[in-house]
Amino acid sequence: MKIAKLVTTQKEETDKVICNKCGREIHKHPIGYLDTFFSAQKTWSYGTGYDGETHSFDICAECYAELISQFKIPPTIVERIEF
Ligand SMILES: [Zn+2]
Repeated sequence: MKIAKLVTTQKEETDKVICNKCGREIHKHPIGYLDTFFSAQKTWSYGTGYDGETHSFDICAECYAELISQFKIPPTIVERIEF
């Protein structure tokens, strides 16, 4: 027989997103953050100068456009969702 009891748990959720490049707060939609910003996380190998460090950053859509405009080869569009 199992006897249940109520427990309170805490959940972490994103409260605010700041663009790492321009420092502006990324607009939050009333239902939450949608895919309106770019997030990256990378764990670097030894010998890269960032030995074993994991880096993470978020950038707004405007800064993403500016960043990829500097690429010699544009990002590959893997999928396009029709709205
Ligand atoms: Zn930005």
